[in-house]
Amino acid sequence: MKKAFFLDRDGVINMDVDYLHKPEDVVLCPGVGKAVRKINEAGYLAVVVSNQSGIARGMYTLREVKAVERKIRELLEPENARLDAFYYCPHYKDGSVPEFAVECACRKPKPGLLLNAIRDLGIDPSASFLIGDQLSDLRAGEEAGCKAVVMVTTGQGFRNLEKARAENRIVKSSLPEAVEYLLAL
Ligand SMILES: [Mg+2]
Ligand SMILES: [Zn+2]
Repeated sequence: MKKAFFLDRDGVINMDVDYLHKPEDVVLCPGVGKAVRKINEAGYLAVVVSNQSGIARGMYTLREVKAVERKIRELLEPENARLDAFYYCPHYKDGSVPEFAVECACRKPKPGLLLNAIRDLGIDPSASFLIGDQLSDLRAGEEAGCKAVVMVTTGQGFRNLEKARAENRIVKSSLPEAVEYLLAL
């Protein structure tokens, strides 16, 4: 069985731009290359799990999401850092694209994206971690049975800090800090 770091995308790996869908708008958060490389070197899969309701809202298509993904991979390459898989939820119940305007099992806080990755890649969730910038990320990680979940204050995390504290969440300032903390557990 493999073990993994499940990573939210926007606000964790790349700077949070509202409904990011243009490769040229991708900017990695500081230190992300090195942090992902540490995940790789420690023998964990790095699996991105991202809500992309902009698809259901008709703002962009999966094709554009894939172009952003390629750009993220491109930016990580010179740092010898590798994201092993990307899982997206394109759904949103009140969206405008009928195909995706459904109540699904994969929009975080639901754990469907993680459960799919766990099944597809043979991951042991109890040996795996989740890092996100929203409480909904953390809930998905818990629902999927992760060993620990950490909130980072990049992206939306800063806005969610009070709620996170009220729930006694583990909070770190960035992906690199969160990875370092979790690898030392
Ligand atoms: Mg996020
Ligand atoms: Zn979904």
